[in-house]
Amino acid sequence: MRTFPNYTMDQTKQEEECGYDLFPERNQGEYKKSVFTKTFFTFQHKCQAMLHFAMETSPYAKLLLGAMKNSGCKVFKERHFSCEDCSGTVSGGFDAASSQIVLCQNNIHQQSHMNRVVTHELIHSFDHCRAHVDWFNNLRHLACSEIRAANLSGDCSFINEVSRLNFGLKEHHQECVRGRALRSILAVRKISREEAEKIVDEVFDSCFNDHAPFGRIPHSKEDAKFAYRDYMNKDRYYANL
Ligand SMILES: [Zn+2]
Repeated sequence: MRTFPNYTMDQTKQEEECGYDLFPERNQGEYKKSVFTKTFFTFQHKCQAMLHFAMETSPYAKLLLGAMKNSGCKVFKERHFSCEDCSGTVSGGFDAASSQIVLCQNNIHQQSHMNRVVTHELIHSFDHCRAHVDWFNNLRHLACSEIRAANLSGDCSFINEVSRLNFGLKEHHQECVRGRALRSILAVRKISREEAEKIVDEVFDSCFNDHAPFGRIPHSKEDAKFAYRDYMNKDRYYANL
């Protein structure tokens, strides 16, 4: 769930500071397929199949893909997604340099996980498409997109399902979003926890309340289905004018 900037200073610095070291198959954000990847045909094949299923059936993914198409950023499966092996326990990332979503085929084993990663990274793509996001130089932009991705992707709703009985739902959701955004930023930027907390807190309210393109926080698949239906109806309404 990492976000990378399009950063053009020296390469070593870029790799260290922007999380490229977490993606050994990435080099300076260029689209590259190694022979190594091809040998993992089964992982690669399964990853592609799960991605295809997510794009066809997840209401979260469908809504985001539709919204991006309407914003002039049509997403192509072969061009904008890449199944790769990643380091550690990373699930995915958005590489702003190539506008590509990386899916970590060695760390995503279940369809529900794939759906969440695809949704999370598509929110970064959506932000990249609609706004002139300065991923590297403006940490507030990065923080804002991470807050939105954690809030709207179901990353935190999933945890809520488990801990609903133990926490006040609303507060827990906000804390979860804040915590996940912090972790994502700290994974790709060499800044202190205090610095990251300060930036997240500065932009939290406005970014937490920015629900585009969902129009609400989709707390469940059902919510996401309603959001998708509303979104499609809105299109139809304008199309008839
Ligand atoms: Zn992220």
